[in-house]
Formats: sequence, C-alpha cells, structure tokens
Amino acid sequence: MERLHSINGFNEAKQVIVGGVNSPVRAFSSVGGIPVFIQSAKGCKLVDVDGNSYIDFVQSWGPLIFGHCDDDIELAVLNSIKNGLSFGAPTLKETALAKQIIKMYDSLEKVRLVSSGTEAVMSALRLGRAYSKKDDILKFDGCYHGHSDSLLVNAGSGCVTFGNPSSLGVPEDLAKHTYVARYNDLDSVYECFKKGNIGCVIIEPIAGNMGLVPADLNFLEGLRKVCDEFGAVLIFDEVMSGFRAWSNGIEHYSKVRADLYTFGKVIGGGMPLAAFGGKDEIMKLLSPIGGVYQAGTLSGNPIATSAGLAALLKIEANPQIYPMLEKLALRLTEGLKQEAKKRDISIQTCVRGSMFGFFFNENEVKNFDDAKKSDTKLFARFHAAMLNKGVYFACSQFETGFICTKMNEKIIDEVIMYAGESFDEIRLEA
Ligand SMILES: *Cc1c(COP(=O)(O)O)cnc(C)c1O
Repeated sequence: MERLHSINGFNEAKQVIVGGVNSPVRAFSSVGGIPVFIQSAKGCKLVDVDGNSYIDFVQSWGPLIFGHCDDDIELAVLNSIKNGLSFGAPTLKETALAKQIIKMYDSLEKVRLVSSGTEAVMSALRLGRAYSKKDDILKFDGCYHGHSDSLLVNAGSGCVTFGNPSSLGVPEDLAKHTYVARYNDLDSVYECFKKGNIGCVIIEPIAGNMGLVPADLNFLEGLRKVCDEFGAVLIFDEVMSGFRAWSNGIEHYSKVRADLYTFGKVIGGGMPLAAFGGKDEIMKLLSPIGGVYQAGTLSGNPIATSAGLAALLKIEANPQIYPMLEKLALRLTEGLKQEAKKRDISIQTCVRGSMFGFFFNENEVKNFDDAKKSDTKLFARFHAAMLNKGVYFACSQFETGFICTKMNEKIIDEVIMYAGESFDEIRLEA
C-alpha cells in the first residue's frame, strides 16, 4: 500500500507543527511508523490522502460510537451552524444536554460543560480538593486523566509512592501531592492513605489508557469504602468509558457510585465537548455560587452541544446498540484469539461493551505492570501489517479499540482473516 502523500504530508507538517502532530500519540512513534494523514471518512471507514481506505477501530479515540458522518449528528450540526458559531452567553441547548446527561446517569445531580477531557478532570480535581480541604490526591499507575500538572505524575521506582513528574515542567512541589497506587490493588491504596493526607481519589473505572483493563468490581467497592473511611472524594474518570462501554458507563457494571464524574469523547459526538458533574453538595462549591473558580470562553459551545445532544438522544432511543456492539467486539476478540492460538502467539483479550483490547502477553493483565510485560515489538509489526491490509488499529499496545454501529459481522470477519494473514507474515519476518 502506497502512502507517499502521507509521508510528504508528515515531512511538511514537521516544518511548522512540533513533531508534525497536534497530539503526540498521533505520531505513531511507539510503532515506529509514519502517521496516516486523513482526507475524509464515512461510517466505519477512513480514507487517507493517497486514496487508501481503512476500517477504523480508533473512531477518533472513542467519540464516534455511530461512526463518521452519522446522518443525525451531521444534521444537528448543520442546523446549528446557521444560527451562529458561538455567543459566550447561555443557550437552551446547554440545559437540554445537561438534562440528558443527568437523565442517563444515576449518580449525577449537577453538571458543568467544558471543552476537553483534560479540562473536565482538572476542574473536578480542584473541586474535590476544595470539598475535602486536603491537597493530596491519589491516582493509579497506567490511568490517564489528561495533561494537567497534578496528573502528569508517574509511580516512582516501585509503586505506592508519591509520584515523580512524568513531564518536564511539572514542579516537584506539585507532584509530591500526587500519590500513585497500583490498579486493582487495594493494599497499595491503603498504604498511600497511611502516608498522605489524601482528599481525592481519581480512577478510570474501566481503564482504557493502558490497553483495556477494567477494575475488579470488589476493588471499586473497596475504593468506595476507603474514601468514606478517610473522607476523600471519589472521582470516576469516564471521559472514555462514559456512554461508550455502555450508555451509563461503569454504572452498568457496578453498583458503586462515585462523588464526581468526568466525561468527554462520546458526549461531544465528535466535537470538542466534555463535562464534569456529581453530587450537588460538591458541585455547588463551583463559581459563581461557590469559591472554586472555573470558566471557559467556548464552554457549552452551541455547535458542540448540538452534536453531543444528537448523539446522546440517539443512544437513548437505541439502547439495543450496546449488546450489538458488544457482540461484534466479542466476535473480533475471539477471532483474534483463535488466529493467534493457531500460530502459538500469546494474546489476552478483553471486552467492555463497544470497547475492546488485546495484549500480546502470556498472562492476564490486571494492572500497568502486567501490561508493560506485553510484546510491544510484536504489536508494532502486527499494527504495520494490518495497516497495509486496510485496518486502522490504535498505534500503541496500550490503547483501546472501539466498535461503531456502522460495523457488522462481515466486516469483523474480514478483519479476523487479515489478522491471520498478518500473523503469518510476522512469523516469516521473525
Ligand atoms: C481522553 C481522556 C482524557 C483527556 O481528554 P482530552 O479531551 O483528550 O483532554 C482524560 N481521561 C480519560 C480517561 C481519557 O480517556
């Protein structure tokens, strides 16, 4: 498959955009390839600038549960555009979207709309710190919560420490307030609580940023208990899993309720929109009612709000999509497993609704340490082979795949066949 225009496009982009991309994961650095430059997309297919077509399992990293250019979302956006792009004043649509989000999630009383997941998480964290009146927070190794300073923190050598900045420019003085525990390991959580004065615990209850690694349900119950015991605010970061794994995200799988939630991706229907929300008692600390400052010129932007509302209304009207998407995800992962097994390749797979993951790993993956034992070189070769057959998987072993409603069994079976061929090619190379 020729990708000359992508290669040229990447070289040209690098002259004016740092690293040629506006978000680092797009650079394909962990698979050592050249990013595919996209011309257009429709349904579950991408078309690149060389005219090649790909079955898209990235779906803009999650938002496009109805695929590209969904008729209803497109129409909502087109209608909205005619009335003005932005006002910086309230619109009735924002209320409608807020009502819809609250209706679909059991544990939300109030929300606020923002423009990115990073912003939602950063604001929820500030709120959690204000409510608990404690500065220390706890996150989990392998979870991603956007790029605000407090959360660009890694576990130090060995887990269960206060963290080290994972980016230059993050002050040590700030990072020392972020404790990092091991995912699915309650003992490591208790250890952190003993060491720090923790007021906030943030977790992806269905982690999608170390590959797909769901939290054990009894682990979530344990977390709720620790937070209650120590007076800490529990935040579920569902920027990826919210309205995606299932219409009500983690609530579909677990009875545990967090105090605050963050959303993004699907709730914008492909436009820049995110939200945070939760108990009124905490949310009312937000400005203009309370003393926690948070604001945004383009927050609740009418075009983004229209796209998000159209997506959520369509989800509500079609609850049957989740079991259907899950069936397709299971068909895909079972197929991958069988093709791998035929060739003695170790693979671990996981499905949560429309989200799926696979690791080239001999053992089950329960946390980031396990995930890191995966064969990333094998993944890179598999990724490249699949790309050449027209299958667009996320360009890292530590990402999640997404099924959209425009996919069907025939497409999935085609992908499984390509996977078998790719495994053969990889083995010949090795
Ligand atoms: C994508 C993501 C974010 C960050 O959202 P952006 O819109 O990229 O800023 C935060 N948390 C989780 C769990 C995510 O998947």
